[in-house]
Amino acid sequence: MIIELRSDTFTRPTPAMQEAMFSASVGDDVFGEDPTVNALEQKLADMFGMETGLYCPSGTMTNQIAIRLHTGPQTEIICHKYSHIYLYEGGGIMSNSMASVKLLDGPLGKISPADILENINPDDVHAPETTLVALENTMNKGGGSIYTLEEIKPIKDICVNHGLRLHLDGARLFNALTVTGENPKDWGQAFDTISICLSKGLGCPVGSVLLGNKAFIKKARKVRKALGGGMRQAGILAAAGIYALDHHVERLAEDHRKAKKIGEILEKQSWVLEVFPVQTNIVIVKLKDATPAEMLAKLAEKEIRAVKFGKDQIRFVTHLDFTDEHLDEFENRVNEI
Ligand SMILES: *Cc1c(COP(=O)(O)O)cnc(C)c1O
Repeated sequence: MIIELRSDTFTRPTPAMQEAMFSASVGDDVFGEDPTVNALEQKLADMFGMETGLYCPSGTMTNQIAIRLHTGPQTEIICHKYSHIYLYEGGGIMSNSMASVKLLDGPLGKISPADILENINPDDVHAPETTLVALENTMNKGGGSIYTLEEIKPIKDICVNHGLRLHLDGARLFNALTVTGENPKDWGQAFDTISICLSKGLGCPVGSVLLGNKAFIKKARKVRKALGGGMRQAGILAAAGIYALDHHVERLAEDHRKAKKIGEILEKQSWVLEVFPVQTNIVIVKLKDATPAEMLAKLAEKEIRAVKFGKDQIRFVTHLDFTDEHLDEFENRVNEI
């Protein structure tokens, strides 16, 4: 039995999700005529109290479309140095938007209002114009760490006062909301645009949705087309998203419980120096006296899969297909290393 903990993207659609996909009504979404895509976009927009949404093939595309429209040549984005938009989107900020990036530091992948304020460029011929602040919740490289609304509010105020846009990479936003119990509508109020992934903890095979106001999403639709992301009978995929929003949100608490347990098991291992605080479904450990390659090889011998996550760190992610049986096996096998 392989214990797959590399990512929450390894899930396979459940039989019930497949049923929903097979029976979806479809049309040509480039013409705006796929009823299932339209329903998914509106369902998610309504959940967050935002005007509308745009279904895209990936979270990279939803983020990059938002950045493309919020920035441009000679502008600058403020984000954490560990942001997905900077580290893991193929250099898209440069190639799609020709924008500059101001990278901030901060514990657990989070940036503070004071640091943001200090890094807004002056209105000066020498400096690129700061136009966007981009946050990530949960923060992948921060170990699935959470921003609360309390932390967002002062950042929002700074953006309003300085005429900046605020974008949220909410690839795992539902993981955060499951823990905090905050109202998605309050999050919708706080951001100009939000990207939500359906293919992570929600367990869909494909897809992300960009939320924003109607004028913005109209422009976003055109950028999506230019990037080659206009799909035709995409309702067959969007149906999985609707199913996941109805059936896979509350269960995220299960993934969090299992991740906490993994953290407790790993904390006791001689090869683990430190476990990041486990807030959601991601567990990052700092290694003692071993490289990630060495430890991943030892885990692989036990058919446990994880990934390297920095020069002395590895990451484990729980998900829909990681069962309590897997968890018990994980404990047994790790204790044999
Ligand atoms: C996965 C992920 C994305 C989007 O990734 P895609 O693989 O392009 O869907 C964006 N941000 C974060 C934090 C992610 O984990």
